[in-house]
Amino acid sequence: MVELSRAHLNTLKRIVIKVGTSTLMYPTGAINLQRIEKLAFVLTDLKNQGKEVILVSSGAIGVGCHRLKLTERPTTIPQQQAVAAVGQSELMSLYSNFFNNYSQVVGQVLLTRDVIEFPESRTNVTNTFNQLLAMDIIPIVNENDTVAVDELEHQTKFGDNDSLSALVTELTQADLLIMLSDIDGFYDKNPTVYQDACLFSEINEITANLLSLAGGNGSKFGTGGMITKLNAAEHVLNQDSQMILANGAEPTIIFEIMHGENIGTHFLKKKS
Ligand code: ADP
Repeated sequence: MVELSRAHLNTLKRIVIKVGTSTLMYPTGAINLQRIEKLAFVLTDLKNQGKEVILVSSGAIGVGCHRLKLTERPTTIPQQQAVAAVGQSELMSLYSNFFNNYSQVVGQVLLTRDVIEFPESRTNVTNTFNQLLAMDIIPIVNENDTVAVDELEHQTKFGDNDSLSALVTELTQADLLIMLSDIDGFYDKNPTVYQDACLFSEINEITANLLSLAGGNGSKFGTGGMITKLNAAEHVLNQDSQMILANGAEPTIIFEIMHGENIGTHFLKKKS
């Protein structure tokens, strides 16, 4: 069913898509190749339709753990950063190969928070994004997990890729952020705990009441849970852009979303 309020989605041009580790990995810690392959197909097809597409992808540490046959996520910062160094290049190699099947070129953009906060480097990054898009390349963005740390004086971490994807939406002045998670959207309570939870189809404002309905993450790989997704949605709404939170289990859902179907939770400001 095509919703009237969503009918305009097809006309939007610049789209950021964010995928979490739980979308890219099986619960066992192995890589979900089917998803990455389908993601490459869907995003390239969107590109072929004339859209500009940016992918924000987590997964460096998860893929690194898999590559190094680690059963547990390492605990110390140097260990995590070493694993991320391995995982990020593995992840990009996977993306590059799958996108290559559809003749789509991708480019890696690794960011830290200080780069965005410092005006000159922020402008440089924005220019890089615009240049990549002008060259028909799909930028694949991640936090630079190999160097980013949270220190009192020098905070280089974004904390989570939900906020990173909202920042990328702002930097690139994208029309839409599609956030793919392991859940169908935002509910009035955690649906993995409460069977009677109800899905919000549209949210126009992030209120304190709404934030109180957001619980933590449900998966082994999930990081932020719903709070970080609502914070990202607020950031996006403040930029007069919009966001859709939907389930990434079947990446072709992006076609249905762009077609205006009533899928997931649509965050958009009410026009006065
Ligand atoms: P991702 O890894 O995709 O970023 P997270 O695991 O961090 O996702 O967050 C998604 C999880 O948030 C869901 O699987 C669910 O268990 C949990 N959650 C908590 N509260 C809610 C809510 N109100 N609506 C939907 N999901 C919720």
